[in-house]
Amino acid sequence: MSATVLIGTGISASAFSNQFKGNLEIHEKASRVGGRLCARNYQEYIIQYGAQYATSSNSLFDDYLNRSGATNLTSSIYIEENNTYEDKNIWVHEEGMQFITNYGFLNKKINFNSEVISINQKNNSINLRDGKIVNYSKLILSIPHPQALKLLGELNYECDFEPCLAIGLCLDEESSFEPYAIRPNSKDISWIASSKFFNKRIPESVLIHFSPERSKEMYYKNKETIINFAKEKIHNFTSSNLNIIYSDIFKWKYALTNKKMNQERYIKYSDSIYLIGDWINGPRIENAFLSGYSLAMDLNH
Ligand SMILES: Cc1cc2nc3c(=O)[nH]c(=O)nc-3n(C[C@H](O)[C@H](O)[C@H](O)COP(=O)(O)OP(=O)(O)OC[C@H]3O[C@@H](n4cnc5c(N)ncnc54)[C@H](O)[C@@H]3O)c2cc1C
Repeated sequence: MSATVLIGTGISASAFSNQFKGNLEIHEKASRVGGRLCARNYQEYIIQYGAQYATSSNSLFDDYLNRSGATNLTSSIYIEENNTYEDKNIWVHEEGMQFITNYGFLNKKINFNSEVISINQKNNSINLRDGKIVNYSKLILSIPHPQALKLLGELNYECDFEPCLAIGLCLDEESSFEPYAIRPNSKDISWIASSKFFNKRIPESVLIHFSPERSKEMYYKNKETIINFAKEKIHNFTSSNLNIIYSDIFKWKYALTNKKMNQERYIKYSDSIYLIGDWINGPRIENAFLSGYSLAMDLNH
């Protein structure tokens, strides 16, 4: 019998998987869960390349975050434009934000390295990169709009995504970066944060997000050029001399959507295909969560 098939393991998929009562077959093209919630390790360091923190204005999401092992704290973010510090109530995960998605997939089997390359809507089946064909009774796509559009052929929905280059720099023991989190007033850099922002016990690294404009311009430049540009820029934000022992980059082709808040939580594309994700309900983790949660609740009835 064909199954309900879920594509992707980001936070919208995790929320769906956590609430959905039927059997699920899950396919993820990467080798890990989390999607745009993504941390990587270098020795004892944790570098969080994707989303940095979640905000929540919803008790359902609060509850999920609590159960996922996330920590709720008030953090001070330096806003360069106003030369002020903004205290923000946020949720972080000490091991990296991707760990909040694990909770929705507890006791679920995930097919990793399993990329959907086409959908046959007439036969209700998907084709995977490894040549396998999987039949579905319902297909839930939790992938960014441009990727969903490519698979579906047409999707009557306006939405743009911007890229983001994320650069991680690991510091030696003598170096320290303060303040922990900065929203710069810069045409080049949109975010800088020390790993102390989410975990004070690990050796310190600094994460830099390039602005959408600079990310677009530098996307295809080589790694060394991108890292050198980041190193040059970061010195404007600290008086300390930073000794960098390791650096790496992560390129997000589809990082942030321009989608504003929207009443619609998910899209019913056809009788058997549904779309969830941050580009439908709003551009942040909480919106992606509510998108997946709402679809699961509706399909359960
Ligand atoms: C650099 C950056 C910083 C951000 N900062 C913040 C922040 O601080 N706070 C905040 O709230 N939000 C932030 N965001 C946005 C937040 O990360 C997203 O809103 C949220 O993670 C989106 O979740 P999602 O489930 O909709 O999609 P995704 O996380 O993109 O999940 C999609 C999943 O589908 C998989 N997939 C895609 N195509 C296929 C295919 N063909 N076959 C199989 N699997 C496939 C992907 O590998 C991925 O796992 C940031 C995003 C980025 C990139």
